[in-house]
Amino acid sequence: MKIIKSIRQMQSWAEQRRGRGKTIGFVPTMGALHEGHHSLMRAARRRCDAVVVSIFVNPAQFGPNEDYARYPRDAKGDAALCRLEKVDILFMPTAEAIYPEGHQTTISVKPLGDGLEGAFRPNHFSGVAAVVAKLFQIVKPQMAFFGQKDYQQTVVIRRLVQDLHFPVKIIVCPTVREKDGLAMSSRNRYLSSEGRRAARVLFKAMQLGRDQIREGKRNAAAVRNEMTRWIRQEPLAKIDYVAITHPETLEEVLHIKGPVVLLLAVRIGKTRLIDNLLLKH
Ligand code: AMP
Repeated sequence: MKIIKSIRQMQSWAEQRRGRGKTIGFVPTMGALHEGHHSLMRAARRRCDAVVVSIFVNPAQFGPNEDYARYPRDAKGDAALCRLEKVDILFMPTAEAIYPEGHQTTISVKPLGDGLEGAFRPNHFSGVAAVVAKLFQIVKPQMAFFGQKDYQQTVVIRRLVQDLHFPVKIIVCPTVREKDGLAMSSRNRYLSSEGRRAARVLFKAMQLGRDQIREGKRNAAAVRNEMTRWIRQEPLAKIDYVAITHPETLEEVLHIKGPVVLLLAVRIGKTRLIDNLLLKH
């Protein structure tokens, strides 16, 4: 595995590979790698000739009072894990290189990026869209792999790719969970042991919502209320939102008839967790 930090070097490696007719599979991450990230690397390995993983904690997608400074960083450990997954290139650019002095260009994906996460994290998806567009220009993948864990992000990125005509196929891989259902996340390491126990409430609430819909409940507000009530029983949990939306438009659903996605964001102490369940019933 080769570690590349320079943008120019990354671009010329990608151009060479593509010139030889090879497919590049790309897994963008912010590091602190876990089994969720590994599943994306394996999916890329199965489908592409070469796998590029990027680690870049993107300042533009964090709000001023968020955890950018304390976001977990472990370059050495991450590199060792990528080697085990037989990653070809680990791309680790600096923030100065990605955002050159005097940069002015922004990308907004609206209204898709305005609701849900966007309502609690203004500019988050502009930051995500900008960095993904930049990384696609640098890594030049034919396929890019994202986790369903960040559901709204996958919808925003699909829109971005369509709108800007990126010749990149977006592949969304299932959420990898701990045994008790908690979605794996780099932020789970912030949780205290009581917090970790309380965090199970997210998956439990989604299971409750899913079961109610399976049993025939069609009033979305009623299902949402049940989920909310369940989460409120956990004293450490504070709800940012519980939503039931259309899987593509992310618009709130009133009457459940087709596929829907259950989305939630819950704070456990200072740790903000998100999760979702796609119901195709
Ligand atoms: P992050 O490092 O949190 O920016 O995540 C990088 C990529 O890994 C994103 O596409 C995430 O959706 C994906 N990812 C994060 N957690 C999981 C998980 N538990 N299962 C599957 N994919 C995940």
